[in-house]
Amino acid sequence: MSSEVAYPALYLKRNEDTRLRAGHLWVFSNEVDVKRSPLTGFEPGEACVIVDAHEKPLGVGYVNPNSLICARLVNRGVEHALDRSLLVHKLKVALSLRERLYPEPYYRLVYGEADALPGLTLDRFGDVIVAQTTTAGMERLKDDIAAAVAKVIKPDALVWKNDAGIRALEHLPEYADAGMHALPLSLLVREGGLDFEIDPLGGQKTGWFYDQRANRDLLAPYVRDARVLDMFSYLGGWGLRAAAAGAKEVICVDGSASAVEAIGRNAQRNGLADRVSAVRADAFEYLKTQRSARERFDVVILDPPAFVKRKKDFNEGRLAYRRINEMAMQILARDGILITCSCSYHLPRAALLEAVQQGARHLDRNVQVLAQLQQAPDHPVHPAIPETDYLKGFICRVLPA
Ligand code: SAH
Repeated sequence: MSSEVAYPALYLKRNEDTRLRAGHLWVFSNEVDVKRSPLTGFEPGEACVIVDAHEKPLGVGYVNPNSLICARLVNRGVEHALDRSLLVHKLKVALSLRERLYPEPYYRLVYGEADALPGLTLDRFGDVIVAQTTTAGMERLKDDIAAAVAKVIKPDALVWKNDAGIRALEHLPEYADAGMHALPLSLLVREGGLDFEIDPLGGQKTGWFYDQRANRDLLAPYVRDARVLDMFSYLGGWGLRAAAAGAKEVICVDGSASAVEAIGRNAQRNGLADRVSAVRADAFEYLKTQRSARERFDVVILDPPAFVKRKKDFNEGRLAYRRINEMAMQILARDGILITCSCSYHLPRAALLEAVQQGARHLDRNVQVLAQLQQAPDHPVHPAIPETDYLKGFICRVLPA
């Protein structure tokens, strides 16, 4: 059956189809021919056909008249409606990558634009799916998403963790909701042979940072018999894996009380409690205290929250990266290892390395970059959408000059 969907047209101005044709999925409000298709004629999240100035349809998407990114292309061509069966198809494509990558069902199942599902994130924790929408278009499809997930994955529960700050850009409320499902009391994520207890409703983001898993897999050669400091540790992902790989002592530091308590339980659960401790502190304060006390660590891990959340915070954020990296180097043992990361999309990889190098020069140290880190392959990068490529990091050896 080859028919065309009957959604209202969103007309682009002349030449404003270039980015979409190059592979991107976003339409900005100034690119729309509002004389032909006034944005006010659309409801938030309404499905549309995106059409160029020559009447050629590019594909099916959805509109949000209240957002700067006023439409996103979901599917090229106009044969398929934005419905359950399209979602089922896309979920299967996403699932087949993850099943190739991972022997166990713990991964990011859908990473928005890069999985051709703009505005949707799905994380899988065994039989529980934690879902997040960041656009009105995906919010409107919630029931179809849940039904498609039920069909493809058959999970015990699907939780909506819709409390991301960026929802405000689409005028969406923030909430977390387990729906009709009874959640298991403690949900476990398995990584690197360890079990971590997570809180899918009350935790940060979707509960676990799968984006760092492949990087944590690289820890082993650096941490054997080492004294390790895991800064911004959250539930202890890096720190516990360092302990499991043979570190002799690990200290995890996070500002969140609930995270620090969970680290204690996670260390117990994995038989690592004798070598892992957790401290609730502000990272900058903690590093200062350690410096004054002349404490030394063989390995320091810095995995902070985004210091550059918006483009205009670039200068201030860059200085924060410079400062925290310099402080970390001050408590590194001679010939120590600094693992430094940034999840700020607006901070380029080169700027993070520059922050490290400036700190090193200031302290008269020499840095060798041993590995360049990026987000795990269950967070694929879309080559036409730079916004999908946000996580960067370096494993550095820091030597006296
Ligand atoms: N390293 C973690 C993810 C870190 S997310 C992992 O691999 O899973 C960032 C963490 O930094 C959060 O847990 C947050 O509570 C913590 N945080 C944010 N600002 C902080 C500060 N100023 N001092 C200490 N911790 C902070």
